[in-house]
Parts: sequence; structure tokens; C-alpha cells
Amino acid sequence: MARSNELGEFDYVIVGGGSAGCVLANRLSADAHCRVALLEAGGRDINPWIHIPVGYFKTMHRPAIDWCFMTEADPGLNYRRIEWPRGKVLGGSSSINGLLYVRGQREDYDRWRQMGNTGWGWEDVFPLFKKAENFAGEANEYHGQEGPLGVTPAPDRRPICDDWLQSAVNAGYERNPDYNGARQDGVGHFQVTIRNGRRCSAAVGYLRPVKHRPNLKVLTKVQASRVLFENKRAIGVCYFNRSSDQEELIRAKGEVILASGSIGSPHLLMLSGIGDSDQLHSQGIEPLVHLPAVGKNLQDHLQSRLVFKCRDQTINDDVKSLRRRLLIAAEYAAFRTGPMSMAASFVVGFMRTGDHVATPDIQFHVQPWSADSIGRGVHKFSAFTSSVCQLRPESRGEVSIVSKDVRDAPEIHPHYLATENDRRTMIEGVKIARNIASFKPLASKIVSEYQPGDDIQSDDDILDWIRNTSTTIYHPTGTCRMGQGQGSVVDERLRVREVSHLRVADCSIMPEIVSGNTNAPAIMIGEKASEMVLADRQR
Ligand SMILES: Cc1cc2nc3c(=O)[nH]c(=O)nc-3n(C[C@H](O)[C@H](O)[C@H](O)COP(=O)(O)OP(=O)(O)OC[C@H]3O[C@@H](n4cnc5c(N)ncnc54)[C@H](O)[C@@H]3O)c2cc1C
Repeated sequence: MARSNELGEFDYVIVGGGSAGCVLANRLSADAHCRVALLEAGGRDINPWIHIPVGYFKTMHRPAIDWCFMTEADPGLNYRRIEWPRGKVLGGSSSINGLLYVRGQREDYDRWRQMGNTGWGWEDVFPLFKKAENFAGEANEYHGQEGPLGVTPAPDRRPICDDWLQSAVNAGYERNPDYNGARQDGVGHFQVTIRNGRRCSAAVGYLRPVKHRPNLKVLTKVQASRVLFENKRAIGVCYFNRSSDQEELIRAKGEVILASGSIGSPHLLMLSGIGDSDQLHSQGIEPLVHLPAVGKNLQDHLQSRLVFKCRDQTINDDVKSLRRRLLIAAEYAAFRTGPMSMAASFVVGFMRTGDHVATPDIQFHVQPWSADSIGRGVHKFSAFTSSVCQLRPESRGEVSIVSKDVRDAPEIHPHYLATENDRRTMIEGVKIARNIASFKPLASKIVSEYQPGDDIQSDDDILDWIRNTSTTIYHPTGTCRMGQGQGSVVDERLRVREVSHLRVADCSIMPEIVSGNTNAPAIMIGEKASEMVLADRQR
């Protein structure tokens, strides 16, 4: 039996201190009369590599800060299991992500609205992106400069990435200086969540400045194990306190808000008896509400990474030499510039694979480095990576529960490449990457194509290479889908169906994945959820 902790009752208990959870903690505790508790399964963000942008390569796969999920064997990937990192620390995945700041396409949000989600169209959410943002670039109507989230136009340049840009232009793609501006199409430099050479995670931007508020209690190393209900009203949360090794409970007189991410939130709902009744029964969980949509509708961006050996020096060369490494460290220590201040990718391309699509359906991430496995060292030769992902996959996967013990990770079935359109789009993406590489100036810098390699030419061979080598670009979404009716888990105010005083606010609520990276949208969801919770409080 869980024992009550000594902290008393809170108005709001937020579960998960990630991208969306940190926003909620900040905005809800802005009212001094409102007692807010934030529960985070991971620890505080004290690992110094979290805050140095290049630390991205050091934090992934570390169980102290990464959940280190693995998918099940996926038929679309020739039955490979792949790693799915997720942040397990204050800041959540925004503390270990690649720092790329992308909002998606206005059409993404307009589609959400057309699905019946009033208040989620582009005109509704655009002000929230601006409200969140503290843009270090030139002021203009598309960016905010007073928000908590530091965003900077890519601070570093690498010649090989600029060559890729020029080759893309020579291949007929338009240069776009601001893909978060009037339109997304084209090629340009990334904007990044970096402030003064340091990572601006959601914890740094939103939590740190307010952590001393007396009405905000942040509990770390506590893993929520279920939501407590009284007559289908959420009244609190049970959790394992890793410090005391005990099960405790915390009470919410207002609401419980799950912000545990696209794996954690559906998992917690199922542990709490909300999900497919048969599935829950089979794990010995007493169903509270039969809601089969929980855990379904899983969507992710699959990336295929083309690697080209080149004549130019790349990061691969930088890390080979001790002398060079010391110089880089000295530059960062003195000025917070240079390769240690770099995000995962430098250059981006949003493109269409054909005239049949109205808006870009693929995205390129161009990186002045290459590796067999991200986060486990780079190649010993000079090379760059041209990674391509499909922006709006049709394939749908699932997160399913395997035990009633929260410490047993759920199964993840991504079901990549399950439709003809998804397979075709990825094949076309690889062809576009090769086409760009055939244009000058890049063509004259490339020594050879290392991956997939010259012997892979036919569509069948390209698809097989995609299946054998592709990996996640870390954007799982959709598992607590927002919408109308039985196919959804939450309504447009993020309230979980058929219970009261319980919301979900994180990437899991996306009805369809956005056409871009998902951190900025997660933060926007946190902003939107905060507004709705506060508005309902007024009522
Ligand atoms: C390696 C990597 C690279 C990425 N690169 C980029 C990028 O460059 N740009 C970009 O836009 N996006 C990127 N993303 C994706 C982006 O960071 C995420 O989509 C976003 O942070 C998700 O926000 P969220 O609030 O939904 O969940 P998260 O930020 O993952 O937060 C969920 C939080 O809940 C906690 N939690 C889970 N279960 C429990 C529980 N039972 N009890 C208590 N706490 C719990 C977790 O520990 C975590 O802190 C990347 C992600 C990863 C992992």
C-alpha cells in the first residue's frame, strides 16, 4: 500500500518534467495561489554534457539519463530491433536532443483543426510558438523575442554543409533563409535551441528561472506508477521514490496532467486501467475505462543516412587528433564557439518527392560528420551525412503493455514502411540525396558514396538498404491521440475521455505527426495546455 508523502495536497500534479512538462510547471505556478508538483522519473540535469551542445553524442544511450528503449523486431526493417532514446532527466528529451528548432508546416495544424480539434489550427498555435521563443536572430513578425526558450540561427558553419546547400540550389531547390518563417520549402541553415553557446532545454528555459517559487515542488527520481481515481475522478498519483525505494502517493485536488511523453503517457494510462480492457485484463490490471485507442496511432520519422566520403576535413577529422580536440575544447572554454557548440545537424532541406504533394514531404538533415551508430563514435575517414526522412508517414504503430509493473518497459511496435506510399517516398528521398550530391560544388568534393554505395541502384535494392539500415530520428508521437470519438484518447482540451480531472499534454496527443522535428511543437503543446488548464480554473 502506497503511503501518502508529507507534502500535502496540490492543485496540479504534473507527471514528467520534459519538454511539455517544464512549460506546464512554469506557467501553472505563475499564480502564487496555485500549488504545483512536478514528478520526474529521472534526476536533475547536472551532467555537464547535457548543457554543452555537442554533448548530444555523450548523453544518448546512458541509462542514467536515457530510457534506452528498444523497439520490437519490426517487419518493415527486415525484423531489426532499433534503439529509441528518450530523455530521462529534467528537461526530458529536450535535454538530450539534437537541438534543432523546427515548428512544422502551418498545414499540419490546420489539418488537426479540420479533424475536429477546435483551437489547434495554425492561427491558434502560431502565437504560442512566438510566446515560447527568445529568438537571437533579427526581429521579425515570425519570431518571438521575449519567451523563455533560447533559439539561435545556426551559429557555426562548415564548408561541406555550405557546399551541400549550393549543390541543392544548383539542383533546382530554392534557398530559404527561414523555414520557420513564411514558408517551409527549400534549403537553409538550421535554427537551434542554443543560448550563448549552451543548450536551452525546456528545463533551462522554463524550470530553472522559477524553481525557487514556494508554490512549485519538483520531485526527481520518482517514477509514477498509476493515477489514483475516486469515482473516475483523478485525485492523485502513486509513484516509486527511487531515493527511499518506497511507493508513495501525492494528492491533486485540481487536476493530474500526464506529460510523460509518447511512451510514458500511454504506459501510465494503461497501468491506471485506461486502455484496451482485454489487454489490461491479460496483464492483471483491473480496467477502469475501455479505451482501445491508448497506445495506438504511434507515428515516427524514419531516417535513412547516406554517407559520402569527401576531401574536405569534417568533424570526423577533428576528433581524430588530440591536438585538434584540445584546441576545440580551449575555443569552447574561452568563447563558447566552435565544434563543441554545434547542434546535431547544420543544414536542412524541406522538399517534395513529386508534384502529387502540396507541401514538402521529405526533410534532409545534413551533418559534417558520419557514424555507423549515432552516439558511439564517428568514422575514421573524412565524410559527411545526408540524412533523409519522410515527414508524414502513413504507417501506424503501437505501444503495448507487457506487465502491471511500471518498471517493465512497454513493447514498442513502430510498423515502419507499412504502406506503399511510405516505401516510395523513402526511395525517392534517397534518389534526391544522390541527385544533389551529383551537382557541383559537392560533386568535386566527394571521393565516393560510402552508404548505400554504388552497387545499390535498383528501387528494390534501395528499399532493402533502407530496411536494413534506417533508424529513428527520435520523433514518436500520437499514442494518446487528440480527437473526437472512440478513435481518440483525449478531446481538444486534452481531457482524457470518460474520466475527469485528468489530461495528457505532450507529443503523444498529436493526431498526426508534424512535418518537422518535434521539440518546438511539444513546447507549444505545453503552452496551449497551460492556457486551457488556467482558463478552466477561472471557470
Ligand atoms: C536523441 C534525441 C534527439 C532529438 N533531436 C531533436 C531535435 O534536434 N529537434 C527536435 O525538435 N526534436 C528532437 N527530438 C525530439 C524531441 O526532443 C521530443 O519530441 C520532445 O522533447 C518530446 O517532448 P515530450 O514533452 O513529449 O516528452 P519528453 O521531453 O520525452 O518528456 C517526458 C518526461 O516524462 C518523464 N517520464 C516518463 N515516464 C514517467 C513516469 N512514469 N513518472 C515520472 N516521469 C516520467 C521522462 O523521464 C521525461 O522527462 C529528439 C529526441 C531525442 C530522444
